[in-house]
Amino acid sequence: MKASQFFISTLKEAPADAEVVSHQLMMRAGLIKKLGAGIYNYMPMGLRVIRKVEAIVREEMNRAGAVECTMPVVQPAELWQETGRFDKMGPELLRIHDRHGRDFVIQPTSEEVVTDIARQELRSYKQLPKNLYQIQTKFRDERRPRFGLMRGREFIMKDAYSFDRDQAGAKASYQVMAQAYRRIFDRFGLRYRAVAADSGAIGGDLSEEFQVIAATGEDAIVYCPASDYAANMEKAEALAPAGARPAAKQPLTVTPTPGKSTCADVAELLSVPLSTTVKSLVLATDETDAAGEIIRSQVWLLLLRGDHDMNEIKVAKVPGLDAGFRFATVAEIGDHFGCKPGYLGPLNLQKPVKLVVDRDVAVMADWICGANQEGHHITGVNWGRDLPEPDMVADLRNVVAGDLSPDGQGELAIERGIEVGHVFYLGTKYSKAMNATFLGEDGKPAFFEMGCYGIGITRLPAAAIEQNHDERGIIWPDAIAPFTVVICPVGMDRSEAVKAQAESLYADLLAAGVDVILDDRGERPGAMFADWELIGVPHRVTIGDKSLKEGQVEYQHRRDASATKVGVADILAHVK
Ligand code: ATP
Ligand code: MG
Ligand code: MG
Ligand code: MG
Repeated sequence: MKASQFFISTLKEAPADAEVVSHQLMMRAGLIKKLGAGIYNYMPMGLRVIRKVEAIVREEMNRAGAVECTMPVVQPAELWQETGRFDKMGPELLRIHDRHGRDFVIQPTSEEVVTDIARQELRSYKQLPKNLYQIQTKFRDERRPRFGLMRGREFIMKDAYSFDRDQAGAKASYQVMAQAYRRIFDRFGLRYRAVAADSGAIGGDLSEEFQVIAATGEDAIVYCPASDYAANMEKAEALAPAGARPAAKQPLTVTPTPGKSTCADVAELLSVPLSTTVKSLVLATDETDAAGEIIRSQVWLLLLRGDHDMNEIKVAKVPGLDAGFRFATVAEIGDHFGCKPGYLGPLNLQKPVKLVVDRDVAVMADWICGANQEGHHITGVNWGRDLPEPDMVADLRNVVAGDLSPDGQGELAIERGIEVGHVFYLGTKYSKAMNATFLGEDGKPAFFEMGCYGIGITRLPAAAIEQNHDERGIIWPDAIAPFTVVICPVGMDRSEAVKAQAESLYADLLAAGVDVILDDRGERPGAMFADWELIGVPHRVTIGDKSLKEGQVEYQHRRDASATKVGVADILAHVK
C-alpha cells in the first residue's frame, strides 16, 4: 500500500468526549469516526486492524472444528418471544417493526436463531457435535455507550454456539473452545487472563471470561500469583465460604459539618488524602422516620473534572429522589439526573444519612468512613474506579481463601481487566425453551446440550491500545497492526537514490509477504514520523541520502528510543 493512495487522517487533539486513552488514540489516529452515540465508522486504517483480529479468530475457530455461517442482523420477534427474551431483555434489545407492523429485533446475540437452525437441520445424534459461528454486527442499546469501540452500541462480535447430544459432549465442546480462545489470545500478543466467571442461573463452573489486563478496565479480577486461581470479582465473591464474606456494613457515622463544601473539607470529612485519585463519588442519603422507614432519599454527587485531582472535585447536591431509590453505578446516577461535572452545590450533611454500598466496592466503605465520626449514618458509597484498593485486596484474601492452593495460603492480588471474550456452557436452557430436539441413539427425542462463545472483535483493538501505548501514540502488537512496516523516505522528491531505494525495498517486502506501507505523501520528516508513531506501526524503516551513501537505512521499532543503522539487505530479518 502506498500512503498517497490510502486514507490517512490524523488529529492533533482528541475530541472532548474521549475519556480513555484507547478512544482518544483511535480517534486521533483516524481508525474510527463517530456517527452517533456508540456508533462508529470503521475507517480504512481501523478496518485493517479489525480484519486482522477477525482473521486470527476465524483461523482458530476453523482449526477447532467450528463452522462459519452468517445469521441475519434483523431477526423476527417470534423467535425471541419463544424464549421470553423479547420481553425479558429490557431496553438493551433494540426492537423495530416493518411496514406491516411486525416486530423485529436487531441481534444483540443469536441464541434464538441458531437454535432455530439446529432444531430444523440437526435431526439425529449422528450429526452431533456441531459448532456454528459467525462474525457479525451486533446492536445493544447500552445504557451508557462509552469509551469508543470499548462499549459501543453497534459492534462486531464473533459468536459461536455448540450443539451436543449430552452433557459430557457439551463439556468437551466447551473445553475445545476454552483452548481455542487461549490460542487466539496468545496470538494477539496481549497480556490477558482467563478468569472464572459467574454462570448465572445455569450453575456449575463452566463460564470463563478472557480479560485483557489494563488499569482502565471496567472489571476487577482476583488472582493468585502462586497458583492458577483467577476469577472475576462477582465469581470471587460468590465463591466465598460461608462466613468469610465481609459482614453487611453497619451504618457508619460521620459528624455533620454544616456548610462544608470545599474539596479539602470533603476530603477531610471522608478521611481521604487530598491527593486521592477518585473519578467520582456518590453519597446517597435516606431520611428515615422514627420507625426506620425511609421518608426521602437524596443523592450527592462528587464529580471529578480535569486531571483527576481531589482538589478539583466539585460537589453537587441533587434533591428530590423518591424513597427507596437504589443505584448501581455513578454513571446511572449521572444519567438519571443528566448531571454534568462542575455543577456546584454545598455538601451539607445536617440530617441522618444512609449510604448504599455498591457491589465490589463494599469493602471500601470501612476505609472511606474509617474516621467513624459520630452523628450521621452512612450506609453506602460508590467510588469511581481509580481508587487505590488496599483494604479491598486484604478483604478478598479472606473472601476467597477457601478456594485457593491446598493449604489456603495463597496470596491474592487484584488487577483490572477488559472483557474481550466469554465462553459459557448453556445446558438445555435454549433448546428446552424452543423445543429443539434431535433423535438420540435410543430413538427418542432429546434436547440439545449447548454452549455459547463470544469474542468482542471491535473491543479487542481498544483493549490492545489500553495496554500498549505511550505519550506518542499506539504501539500495536505485530499480529494486529494496521501495517507491520512503514517505509519513510526522507527527501524522496529531491533524491533519486532515496526514491529508488524506497521503491525497491517496498517491492521486496511485498514480495516477501510483509504488510508494508510506503509513505510517499511527501510530508516533512517530523510530521511523517509523528503520524506513524500515533498510528502505532511497529516497525519503521527510514531511508535518507546520508546513510544510503554507506549502504544503510535506519530501523526503529515503535518501542525503541532511537533508530539503528542497518544494511539494506538486512531489513527483512528485522521486520519478519
Ligand atoms: P460487558 O460485561 O462488557 O457488558 P457482556 O458480558 O455483556 O459484556 P457478552 O454477552 O459476554 O458481553 O458478549 C461477548 C463479548 O462481546 C464480550 O466478551 C465483549 O468482548 C463483547 N461486547 C459485549 N458488549 C459489547 C459492547 N457494547 N461493545 C463492544 N463489545 C462488546
Ligand atoms: Mg453487557
Ligand atoms: Mg460481562
Ligand atoms: Mg460476558
